Amino acid sequence: MPRLSFYCLVLTDGAAPNPTLPGSEFGVRPLAGIPCPCADDELFGPHAESFTRAAQAARAAYLFHGSRSARHEVGGFLGAAHEALAVAVDGVAAFCLDVLRLWPFPSKDAIDLPTDPLPEDVFALGFTERGPGSFRALTYGLSKLGQREITFDFTGRGLADEAKYLCSHLADYVMSQTRRVDHRQSMSFGFDRLEFRAAEGEAGGPLRGWHAPYVQRALPEELFPGVGLLEARCFEPLSDKLASDVTLALERSLEQRRLLDELGLEGEAPHQGTMVRSCACAGGPDGLVGWREEPDTIRHSGWSFLCGRSPHPAEEVGTVPLGALAHRLPQIVRYLALPAGCRVTWRGGEAVVDAGRLMDEEEEESGL
Ligand SMILES: [Zn+2]
Repeated sequence: MPRLSFYCLVLTDGAAPNPTLPGSEFGVRPLAGIPCPCADDELFGPHAESFTRAAQAARAAYLFHGSRSARHEVGGFLGAAHEALAVAVDGVAAFCLDVLRLWPFPSKDAIDLPTDPLPEDVFALGFTERGPGSFRALTYGLSKLGQREITFDFTGRGLADEAKYLCSHLADYVMSQTRRVDHRQSMSFGFDRLEFRAAEGEAGGPLRGWHAPYVQRALPEELFPGVGLLEARCFEPLSDKLASDVTLALERSLEQRRLLDELGLEGEAPHQGTMVRSCACAGGPDGLVGWREEPDTIRHSGWSFLCGRSPHPAEEVGTVPLGALAHRLPQIVRYLALPAGCRVTWRGGEAVVDAGRLMDEEEEESGL
């Protein structure tokens, strides 16, 4: 069973944090030395630079720590940790650092830490440029959930926000259940499928060495043996062939979300393995029309893509995997995240979206 954990470095001018309650799952221990970040250590958030100066000036270092079995709800644990930390540093002039997230903040801000954290509050995301326009992303903080940190490569500066969205998607998945994503597991990311491989290969460890050097310096090994790192790649659609990185998955997700933003809609693309109603003539001389309804089963995407013949002979309409249809009609991919109630008509290579039915329903609900 994975463990939830929270570690916060508290650097002071010598004063000790307030003790935690006896029997509490959180504790404070003094550290023998002050772990100072060096030039190579990446820290995140608005206080990254002031933390380095504060660490050089600090006279004492303490570690606020606590952990719980992942049987418990993540948000509840992190909320309790944030509250207990705020009590521990109340009235103590200190600089704090959420160690696993590498996220420093002044002790007076501890009171503002979220009591019901969102997925994006859990981790920070670092980017290393590996070549022109080519990046490696690496999370810091998923290990608070007992989840291995993840890393992946992509090409395209404009995909950085989408990379963060992918990590939030994973954090959200982990926060909603007791299972963790591990070596050789896969996860759907909208239309795409991602696979994760342990950075150490099949060995199963050791794990601590994959965490940032500063995390290793700040956390004693007996408190934090490490959870390790996973490398993510996406599959080529409807195949077991892994792409070299996640660029295509991020590009597809980005163009789908851009369209939703343009239309002011919310939605999620069905996975390529779900089913879609279609005719063999869709996208041929009789054109292409797509519409999405609430699916009857989770195996179905809710989408139908037919040609423009109306009424269409029912015996010529079948059910195929979405990935296979997207391979034949790649122009549909951009529209797949549109919610039920939307209709897309392609005319002369141009697509027209009609979200009319959906808007009518919203107006009825609001009594207009
Ligand atoms: Zn047809």
